[in-house]
Amino acid sequence: MAFLKTRGIVIKEVGVGEADKIITIFSRNRGRISALVKGGKRPKSKLSAGSQLMSYGEYVLYSGKDMYSVNSCEVLEPFYEIRNDMVRLTYAAHFLDIVMEIIQENQASPKLLQLLLNSLFMLTKAEKIPELVSRIFELRALTTAGYAPHVRSCMICGCEAEKVYSFSFSKCGFICDRESCISEDRFAPELSTGTSKAIQHIVHTRMEELFSFNLSDDVLDELGRITKRYLRDRLERDFTKLDFLKSI
Ligand SMILES: [Zn+2]
Repeated sequence: MAFLKTRGIVIKEVGVGEADKIITIFSRNRGRISALVKGGKRPKSKLSAGSQLMSYGEYVLYSGKDMYSVNSCEVLEPFYEIRNDMVRLTYAAHFLDIVMEIIQENQASPKLLQLLLNSLFMLTKAEKIPELVSRIFELRALTTAGYAPHVRSCMICGCEAEKVYSFSFSKCGFICDRESCISEDRFAPELSTGTSKAIQHIVHTRMEELFSFNLSDDVLDELGRITKRYLRDRLERDFTKLDFLKSI
């Protein structure tokens, strides 16, 4: 019997019958993995804690005829603070929604896994604004997935001095305010300096410094309009989990 040992986080759970579950694990070694959890719905099961949404742990899976089954799991981080808070839980669900769209079976994405874990940790911190954590996650997840916008300089003329930039969705990056450049995409919204610097930071900075900044409400709103549309354009669907926050 073939066993697979991997760290990972549960990004989806579906009940099966009376007592079982099928979970989707974003694993360090193999990307997306589906696995059956025998008795996972029973609170007293030793697999119950590790088969909850957002549990991060070390899993031992065995390869059955059709799919993996969870043999054992050791929970390393249950993210209780998120599960017990409706607002944070909604943001976390949004992150998982995006991750489900990006990751593939048998394709490890260690940078995206690290980003997800760090973003969830940031959601647990009272001093971090969830909207900002979410904007950072959205843009950096797209960057990690190969959809990095060109934001170091103007895409058309290459200038990178202190410029007023616009964000061109059709060209996937910044264009400067020269007439010859602007004329390449008249629909590109102009960015404030704060927003263009925030975008450059999110796309290019090291993971260790990714969350170490704050934004004014205006800049955060502007950044949100950019990342929402960029997310929809690149992944070709709407992400609606955060709409719930407008109703509470
Ligand atoms: Zn230019």
